[in-house]
Amino acid sequence: MHAALSNIGALDAAHHLHPFSDMKKLNAAGTRIIERGEGCYIYDNHGKKYLDGFAGLWCVNIGYGRKEIADAAYKQMNELTYYNTFFGTTTPPTVLLAQKITSHAGPNINRVFFTGSGSEANDTWFRMARVYWAAMGKPTKKTVIARVNGYHGSTVAGASLGGMKWMHEQGDLPIAGIVHIGQPYWYGEGGDLSPADFGLKMARELEAKIDELGEDNVAAFVAEPIQGAGGVIVPPETYWPEIARICKARNILLVTDEVICGFGRTGHWFGHQHFGVEPDLAPIAKGLSSGYLPIGGVMVSDRVADVLVNEVGDFNHGFTYSGHPVCAAAALENLRIIEEEKLVERVHDDVGPYLAAGLKSLEDHPMVGQTQSAGLMAAVQLAENKSTRKRFEDRERAGVEVRNHCLANGLVLRATGDRMLFSPPLVITRGEIDQMIEITRKGLDHAWKVMKG
Ligand code: PMP
Repeated sequence: MHAALSNIGALDAAHHLHPFSDMKKLNAAGTRIIERGEGCYIYDNHGKKYLDGFAGLWCVNIGYGRKEIADAAYKQMNELTYYNTFFGTTTPPTVLLAQKITSHAGPNINRVFFTGSGSEANDTWFRMARVYWAAMGKPTKKTVIARVNGYHGSTVAGASLGGMKWMHEQGDLPIAGIVHIGQPYWYGEGGDLSPADFGLKMARELEAKIDELGEDNVAAFVAEPIQGAGGVIVPPETYWPEIARICKARNILLVTDEVICGFGRTGHWFGHQHFGVEPDLAPIAKGLSSGYLPIGGVMVSDRVADVLVNEVGDFNHGFTYSGHPVCAAAALENLRIIEEEKLVERVHDDVGPYLAAGLKSLEDHPMVGQTQSAGLMAAVQLAENKSTRKRFEDRERAGVEVRNHCLANGLVLRATGDRMLFSPPLVITRGEIDQMIEITRKGLDHAWKVMKG
């Protein structure tokens, strides 16, 4: 081993600042060092093997270590390492990727604006929506309505669009022109209403907010089809159709953030298809390249694209890495694999329902209040008293106890407060799902003892 590699932990503490981390605590505890990945498994520097129930960070949809992607990137890197798409130029993989993405997005979406990440994708549509309305002769239509406990990234616009109070508190966010309405989180906030009634109630908060602000001042509404970082909150069935109706009736753009839900995660190519709605704009990233290289974008419907192309002139926006040819080549190969191996269909017809059944089997556990899933995106809601939907006083601890026990037993899960989140690679097998459920049950047993004992 290279001398420096034997010392990675100490070097990490000395030189590396991690995202979303308390560095003092992390440096004291030490980081886990992941060295290798294959299929649905990752391996740490001690050779310990983990089933990755989280696909990296909701992104490694085709699993780790696919040589085809490495080959595609290598080939492209040898041919043309980089070129920009700014000054009247383009590169072949960029164009082919835009075409491939839109071929799965429904008849009204035919164009893509590329970015380097999901956050940049959100910043991009935010500006694009305002430019669109200005070109339509409605320059006052500027405010964007987003949701409490939504997540749209860490850039200034992304974090402002997100509804995470603890992010807003750092750096004086949200920026002007972004407001938030409630989330369709029935288990936590639905009270005595049925899920269906609660879904309608929360959707109608959008209508009330538009009334309050005035339709002429509102540009768009943005939401993740299923909140991801907020806790994999699958909204009641009534929610999305009502949101789509309101956006149409009030003439505001509908933006679905597909950064997690896109590229097969829910058993459809995109999350909006899962709920049968059509967005005007849709940021994408993560599963677009299965995380092999960083790339994101915004899918732009004809309604917006026609105005951008024919009316706006220069859209003064773009990134050095917009449409990066090597990232595009890797993403193109990733989409080819998803198509060829019919991974979307596999999630929809086979492993998605299988995971849902496995999760249902956990509902007999005293600590499980509810399970929810869509394809391979799922959550287990923890509860102190499942018959009354009472949640633990210390929600964080409940989740962390389950998560840490699972980790020690070789399963990576994520805890968002008292919800345990699952988002495994789309290539996961039924046997691996059984393993995931079994280790989770042991984690629940352990945490229940700790919390109630
Ligand atoms: N939108 C959603 C829905 C996300 O989940 C994320 C990342 N978790 C982002 C945007 C931001 O993407 P990135 O981290 O690539 O900037």
